[in-house]
Formats: sequence, structure tokens, C-alpha cells
Amino acid sequence: MPMPRYRPPDALESPRISGVRTFMRLPHVRATEDVDFAIVGIPFDTGASYRVGARFGPQAIRAGSTLLRPFNPAHGVDVFEHLSGVDYGDVAVVPGAIVPSYEKIVEGLAPIVEAGVIPIGLGGDHSITLAELRALSARHGPLGMIQVDAHPDTWEGYWGESYTHGTVFRRAVEEGVLDPDRVIQVGMRGPIYSFDDYDQSRELGMDLVTMDEVRNIGLEGVIERIRRRAADGPTFLSFDIDSVDPAYAPGTGTPEVGGFATHEAISLVRGLTGIDFVGGDLVEVLPAYDHAEITAMAAANVVFELISLLAVHRRDAANR
Ligand code: MN
Ligand code: MN
Repeated sequence: MPMPRYRPPDALESPRISGVRTFMRLPHVRATEDVDFAIVGIPFDTGASYRVGARFGPQAIRAGSTLLRPFNPAHGVDVFEHLSGVDYGDVAVVPGAIVPSYEKIVEGLAPIVEAGVIPIGLGGDHSITLAELRALSARHGPLGMIQVDAHPDTWEGYWGESYTHGTVFRRAVEEGVLDPDRVIQVGMRGPIYSFDDYDQSRELGMDLVTMDEVRNIGLEGVIERIRRRAADGPTFLSFDIDSVDPAYAPGTGTPEVGGFATHEAISLVRGLTGIDFVGGDLVEVLPAYDHAEITAMAAANVVFELISLLAVHRRDAANR
């Protein structure tokens, strides 16, 4: 088996403190040939309803990723034995203007998606996911989705605006880019406006697991429920870093106490083997509120777990 073309430099030759910051120190090339996954920064935060500054998330996550090593001992997999990956850089956006930004994001992702490369978006606030789903559904049809988040993001509108980070998944269902029967939201918590906040996800056809339920059924139970929901079909992983407790991820826009510990978040993603991920994103990292890169490193490690799943998928397919 030939070695994958694009991979990080060997840190035993070139120490991690050196080099221009890309995700995992992957080559920054706008290539799609011989590429399995592409990291794509989406520096847009005009959809945010509370703190802003997630536009600086991509560069923070890249900086927080430099210590990542290529072997994932939980799966016994060396990612870059199975996958070629690049840091594609950032797509263009229009600060302050969400509709034109969506168009530019879709345009920027199109060559990646058309080439069959798996895009992994670094946000940006959660509103960007609608554009990613638009781009991917053009190839795959309506997608399943696993959303790890403190909030369902299915409100009808905010201050009369249809497109925000709190309304994004209602829009996605309305547009037909998500298949709600294959969507599950995990980690919702905190004070809400009313039970409607959760009921409307269910009315849209999605499953929703609150953080209290996560505590009751445990991670194994959650993973089982995700599998039943999302199995069989192209699926997107959308990981909002505010699902992690602000003690572990303070650098975010809409913090809710009582969330996942970092190890739980990583274990949850790690458990999602056997799912056909065609894309994913890590959103809502807001470095101005971060300390000692805690949030950025948590985010980078979650992305690494997603990439590891892709590698396991590839390895297992080859062995089948
Ligand atoms: Mn969200
Ligand atoms: Mn959230």
C-alpha cells in the first residue's frame, strides 16, 4: 500500500514549535488530488447572539493543534498510514453579512466536495454549518447529523433574523439539506425559554439527548442511541465546543455550565466508529475568552478524534 501523499512533518526531525501554524502542521495546499480530508477555516461570527470573536477560532485551533501526534492509541491507528490530509486554508467570508458569506463558503467548499475529499470546518460560529451542509448535500443528498452542543439551535428566528447560530438547524431541515430522521442532538442543558426549545427539535423530526439524560444513560448509552439514529448513510459531525463545560472550554460565545469534561467529549467522539462521516466541523471557539489555550487544545483534540474515525473507517474497509 503506498503511503498517503500529504502528512505532517516528522516532529523528531522538525520540532513542533517550528513552522507556520497549520492544523497538525499539515501542508497548506489548495490541492484535492490524492487528498482524503481537508481542514478548512471558516472565520465568520456574524451569526453569534452573545459574545463575538469566533472569527479568530480557526487560527486558535491551528495553534492548539501543533502538539498532536499522528498515532491514536485508543484505536491503535496511525492516521497518516491511511489518510492523506491537508490544511486547505480559509474560505472567504463577508464580515457582517451572513447571506453572501453562505454563498462564498459554499463556493469555497465546492471543489473539495466535488473531488470527494472530506471537508472538516473550523469555525466560526455555528451559523456556518448551514453552508457546509448545503455544499455537502449537493453531492450526498440530505445528510444525517450528530450535533454535540449545549443548545439545539432550532429557533425560528432571532430579532426577526432567519439566519443566526441559534436558528441554523431549523433552516437546514426546511431546506432539505438534513434528513431529520437521521439527526441527533446531544448535550443540551441550562435554563431555556420553555420546553418548546427542546420540543421543536423533536417536532422537526430530530432526536435530542439533554445533558441530564447523558448523565443518566452514560456515554455508552448515548453512543448506542447515536448509532441507532445515524447509522447507514452519509453523516456530518457538528461539534459545538460549548458542549464542553466552561471550566474546560471557557473560550466560547454562549457558555453553559454543567457540560462535558474534555475526556468525556473525546470519548464520545471516539465511540462513533462505523459511521460514514462525509464531513464535520468544530465551531464556537472564541480565543479572546480562552486561557492557556485550554479551549483551543480541546477543540484540536476533538478534531483529531474525528480524523481518527476516518482513518479507522478506511483501515477497516481495506481489511474487509
Ligand atoms: Mn451550536
Ligand atoms: Mn451551543
